[in-house]
Amino acid sequence: MEGDILYRYEELLKRALEQMPKQRAEATRFEIPKAKITVIGMRTVIHNFKEICERLNREPRHVLRFILRELATAGMFEGDVLVLQGKFSKGAIDRLIEIYAKNYVICPVCGAPDTKLIKEKRLMFMVCEACGAKSSVRPL
Ligand SMILES: [Zn+2]
Repeated sequence: MEGDILYRYEELLKRALEQMPKQRAEATRFEIPKAKITVIGMRTVIHNFKEICERLNREPRHVLRFILRELATAGMFEGDVLVLQGKFSKGAIDRLIEIYAKNYVICPVCGAPDTKLIKEKRLMFMVCEACGAKSSVRPL
């Protein structure tokens, strides 16, 4: 009975998937768009910065502050693109955005990206909508 075997295999697979830790599924589901950049003279243009911030569900200004601090440079929005002073590689920008996501978007307890940043007095916290954890984050 081949059909029966196939059915049981699918059942087993389904059960195995259900038993996988939820956080792994959450983490793989969350993909950040890679930066599209152009270096023009001594300036680096990030064309899809707003799209990246939308995916991160964060204020572009907050993400920008992090990037400027890490690169120790200046930058500003020009229309929809972000222009940084200095030449930076795509790899460096992608890495910084990943670090930002790790520090300010991904819940350290369950790995879900469904979080919010809240300010309390002078402190900043990440509140997870998936597991309810409240974690302190480094203020920017
Ligand atoms: Zn969580």
